Amino acid sequence: MPRVYLNDVLKHAQQHAYAIGAFNVASFAILDAVLVAAEQCRAPVVLNIPEYLLSQPNSAGLLAAINASAQHAHVPITVCLDHATTLESVIAGIRIGCNAVMIDASTQTLDKNFRLTRAVTELAHACDISVESELGYIPWANAEQSGETSTDAIAYTSPAEAKAFAERTGIDCLAVSIGTVHGLLKGSPKLDLARLTKIHDNVTVPLVIHGGTGLSDEQHKKLIAHGVAKINYHTALNEIAGHSIRTQLAKHPDGDYPLLTSTIQHDLINHLSHLMRLWGSGGRAAEVLQQCRPWKTFTRIDVLPAESKYPPPENPADALRQAAILSNQDMLVKQQNQLHQCRITRYASRKAGELFATQNAAITELRIEIED
Ligand SMILES: [Zn+2]
Repeated sequence: MPRVYLNDVLKHAQQHAYAIGAFNVASFAILDAVLVAAEQCRAPVVLNIPEYLLSQPNSAGLLAAINASAQHAHVPITVCLDHATTLESVIAGIRIGCNAVMIDASTQTLDKNFRLTRAVTELAHACDISVESELGYIPWANAEQSGETSTDAIAYTSPAEAKAFAERTGIDCLAVSIGTVHGLLKGSPKLDLARLTKIHDNVTVPLVIHGGTGLSDEQHKKLIAHGVAKINYHTALNEIAGHSIRTQLAKHPDGDYPLLTSTIQHDLINHLSHLMRLWGSGGRAAEVLQQCRPWKTFTRIDVLPAESKYPPPENPADALRQAAILSNQDMLVKQQNQLHQCRITRYASRKAGELFATQNAAITELRIEIED
């Protein structure tokens, strides 16, 4: 079942005034808890893969589990590469199965943020992959051992810049900075709801909040009432797991690993279920599945004659650089009633695919077209 397009789910959320949860699933325990809670609440959900997981040794098993979960779940799922910082990461994320990406160039200048976001959008949209970008800067709070909490400086999203940025980059959703932080703050974050209202008035794409941890239920409701359709939520889940272990340890000082970790899933699922109901995504799975397109890997496969019908590019080296290959997989293709084992290559754009096909004899028989 069903991996769905983030774009479709977010539009549904926007129309029906609820928010979908996006949870960092960098461990098997949290992945499992998110899936169980989503199934129990019948909620669509986003599984976030943090960028570092792409290069972490031994992450292949977890990435495979995330993909398999998305395929076999009974609720709509989007797999999103979270906080990607480069075009190369975006391509790597698409290759491992992400069907949405969040590009984060929020620490760079507005111009650089715009250019990178625009490049990612062009590439990802060629494959129907939705793009989120961050404008302004949502800081990261660092809990020190002493209990002190330090935060780097927040840069609030400008409503005027948000309008131009969203329109000119073509992004599908916008992460805004209106007072939340990544991580744990002492006390409750102060939200600039007036700013959020102005951004919501100026921007047509759904809005995203990062740093949902530490907000009260009332604050969550207000965010959704002001146009937020996706909430990224992470730190509290690690806190809950830690608290669960400490509680068990207090009760069972000599407890072994299974005993000390035995309540983690129960506590996580309880908290996640509460959020899914609070945000209004609970109970929406059936509607979303009915109204959103199921994810399709390829839009069209053409079998071409062995001799290329495309003239060679003037500068082959440039052509190869342009050809961002997004996925490679072996599959059987029927040609003149015979099955052939072929390597299917998916390109960032039709033009890049055509140029690349002229340069690689091994794949000139096949061309994948992505709808422009
Ligand atoms: Zn974030």
